[in-house]
Amino acid sequence: MSCRKCPRLVSYREKVAAEKTKRYAEWNYWGRPVPGFGDRRAELVIIGLAPAAHGGNRTGRVFTGDLSAKFMVDCLYEAGFTSQPNSDSMDDGLHMINSYMLAAVRCVPPGDRPARDEALNCFPFLERELKLLKHAKVVLLLGKFAFDSYVRFLRETLGLNSRGMKFSHGAVYRIEGHPALYASYHPSPRNTNTGMLTRLMFLDLLASIKKELP
Ligand code: SF4
Repeated sequence: MSCRKCPRLVSYREKVAAEKTKRYAEWNYWGRPVPGFGDRRAELVIIGLAPAAHGGNRTGRVFTGDLSAKFMVDCLYEAGFTSQPNSDSMDDGLHMINSYMLAAVRCVPPGDRPARDEALNCFPFLERELKLLKHAKVVLLLGKFAFDSYVRFLRETLGLNSRGMKFSHGAVYRIEGHPALYASYHPSPRNTNTGMLTRLMFLDLLASIKKELP
């Protein structure tokens, strides 16, 4: 995939890939849009914000090779949703078990903040991917950006009433005939290092999700 619709993001993803960072100087960075990863028949779909500069933008796989991935995949493993606790590179052997993860925006944004027009540019990719995930029973939304992107999908793509749906950690919304929505703080170091999101909080959420899946 070689989409170049967002000039600012294209220039940033390529700049990061060319300049690299010292500890990954030997890597051949991906530097392109990062698609979702996992089991296409998954009942759990996890949506994050966007690839990290030296995570997904380096490795080419979403939630791979950065601290958010380290935290989240270890928890997913403990809850039985991955084959191993680590997510380091495309060839590390990771398999998602009844789960699929993707980002609302596919290219790394400066400061982890996509602009509104960039989010809108990338929305058709999110729509397409979500429509393919026909077996989803729960959608776990990591952070307000992912939450709002999914609510846009419900409202604009599926024509559902999303009135009253607001992001907060632990919020759960149910719409008959559609996957349940679970909201969590994003597992970024900003949240996990400050105790805003602890391992116990995230595992609790995953345990509740597990109960939704027969
Ligand atoms: S963020 Fe999405 S729409 Fe923008 S360049 Fe990347 S893939 Fe294309």
